[in-house]
Amino acid sequence: MKASIIVPTYNERENLKILVERIANSLKEREYEIIVVDDNSPDGTWKLAQDLAQFYPIRLIKREGKRGLASAVVDGFSYATGHCFVVMDADLQHPPELVPELIDAIEGGADLAIASRYVKGGGIRGWSHFRRFISMGAVWLARIFLTSVRDPMSGFFALKRDVIEGVDLRPRGYKILLEILVKGKYSRVVEIPYIFEPRKLGQSKLNKKQYVEYLKHLISLMRYKGELQRLLKFTIVGVPGVLVNEGLLFILTELLSIHYLLSALLSTECSILSNFTLNDLWTFKNRRDRGIKRFFKRAIKSNLGFGIGVLINLFILFALTENAKVHYLISNLLGIIAAFIWNFLISIRWIWK
Ligand code: UDP
Ligand code: MG
Repeated sequence: MKASIIVPTYNERENLKILVERIANSLKEREYEIIVVDDNSPDGTWKLAQDLAQFYPIRLIKREGKRGLASAVVDGFSYATGHCFVVMDADLQHPPELVPELIDAIEGGADLAIASRYVKGGGIRGWSHFRRFISMGAVWLARIFLTSVRDPMSGFFALKRDVIEGVDLRPRGYKILLEILVKGKYSRVVEIPYIFEPRKLGQSKLNKKQYVEYLKHLISLMRYKGELQRLLKFTIVGVPGVLVNEGLLFILTELLSIHYLLSALLSTECSILSNFTLNDLWTFKNRRDRGIKRFFKRAIKSNLGFGIGVLINLFILFALTENAKVHYLISNLLGIIAAFIWNFLISIRWIWK
């Protein structure tokens, strides 16, 4: 299977030659092309690519003006002639020696093969705590809402051509893999561990603006998948839940003269059940399995999950009010927010998985 290695470059003059040599060494016996997509690098990376094309199977796309990483990759796809596409950075942070393994995985039947930092054996060398933290947060958000892949932020991956054939990719920012994971047509994904090495030559082009871009991208993909709508429904369902809780508490305590703590317990249970029912019928309609047994299983899970949510709320209310001397209404608000986040996570990751 012919492989097209797509390499976006912007000011990578110092790295390109070494990269091409190492790719060529790793792919000796195979049929391949290297597509360099250069955004008109001021350092003349494109000129070097032209020179190298005399000795290596390089094809150059020189774009006018800097238009960004993800769109460079998509332009590379449309130019590629292979049946297996490999995407990698030019700066040697992605070891070219892994490329054959990625291609083998595709030839072995995988639709997507991702070089992954977040599976066993993978990792990152040389990042600050700050950058690690940001990256973990980004991965975490993507995994909650969009994908079960462990490293959806990877910029180093291979795919079958068919995965994106006819798919309307809207590249923005840095994270083209995430776009493919949400919109592409695939069934088998493998992740192959690798160590993301520190950059030795040239400079990173990642800037703070990319963090905001990423969040916008995430939200647009959530909308595309219907997950934003789901979050909204889940929030809306919370409102009648509160009304049931408050209303019953009032009725039981005032009209039936039950002790208010016992009333609170009963009304909380009723609001859990009403939240469960509405979420089951509406929010997670497209995710629930049929059958009465499954229904009861979800109901029991909800009682456990949302029950813990109530405890979280109470714990925060108590701890902040008693220890941090926060006003109890503010403590309660913070408790409600924490419980809401917990409830949502437990719902999508466990109850309606
Ligand atoms: N890159 C690009 N256009 C851009 C930004 C980056 O072609 O607008 C290329 C860059 O030359 C490198 C790869 O994308 O080959 C990854 O960029 P960088 O190393 O700056 O990102 P980091 O590894 O720091 O996340
Ligand atoms: Mg880099």
